[in-house]
Amino acid sequence: MEFRPFRVQLATRFRGVTERHGVLIRGRGPDGRDAWGEYSPFPDYTPERASRWWAAAMEAARGEWPEPVRDTVPVNSIVPELPSGRAAQLAKAGGCTTAKVKVAGTMRIIDDARRVEAVAIALGPEGRVRVDANGAWDVDTAVKALRELDAAARAGGGPGLEYVEQPCMRVEDLAEVRRRTHVPVAADESVRIPGDADAVMRLGAADILVLKVAPMGGVQACLDVVDRYDVPVVVSSAMESSVGLLAGVALARALPELPYACGLGTSELLATDTVREPIVPHDGVIGPVTLDVIV
Ligand SMILES: [Mg+2]
Repeated sequence: MEFRPFRVQLATRFRGVTERHGVLIRGRGPDGRDAWGEYSPFPDYTPERASRWWAAAMEAARGEWPEPVRDTVPVNSIVPELPSGRAAQLAKAGGCTTAKVKVAGTMRIIDDARRVEAVAIALGPEGRVRVDANGAWDVDTAVKALRELDAAARAGGGPGLEYVEQPCMRVEDLAEVRRRTHVPVAADESVRIPGDADAVMRLGAADILVLKVAPMGGVQACLDVVDRYDVPVVVSSAMESSVGLLAGVALARALPELPYACGLGTSELLATDTVREPIVPHDGVIGPVTLDVIV
């Protein structure tokens, strides 16, 4: 195997960092072709957490991904805190018909609702709008906010919010929000290692799991969770370069069911990448990918 250190710049700060760095690993798959893995844990990780990223990178570099059951993977656009006009534009980036709107940041709920409304109108009745609160609400605020955001999401003629991602931080609070709203709840921050998924499912805290391949320890580790609970999964990135993103694409292509668009359209958040042609969605999907690694 061959190891190549890399560094890529982010277009905007994320989790307090402005660049991502790590190691690309070139191995060989069972078909004799190059297989690439990315090892890029965040700097504040414990060795134990980082070891799962390592396992995921080695699985990729050995070409040990399961057979895909689909060729293309629908992805969502990402709408940060922006004025409504710009938000409506971004919602359709890459031809996406599903948008994830970041809420519960510095804006008031009414401003989040205006943005959700603008996005819903831009996407029209066939579009899907989901919101991500990154755990910022308490239970009562979440229930109240979801009532308003769900109403705003109907402005385009569609069915309302597709789901809310991580309305509160604590798993017990997710479970309570889930009991008090009809908006489906997705657990993201609450599921970082395979054991977390067990806790979330045991408490009835989520309708959907957001899974990131690297922190979970690989594609197979994610599939094992799906096997165990038969729960819908949204595959998401951990802000990897395109080499790491491909592992997410491999999981999404191998899942028995894929009812929701995935959060894998994140290469646009990078200013530079590890491949000549970054993985980006066209017509709302990521199609078959060939990596041309340039580090
Ligand atoms: Mg999230």
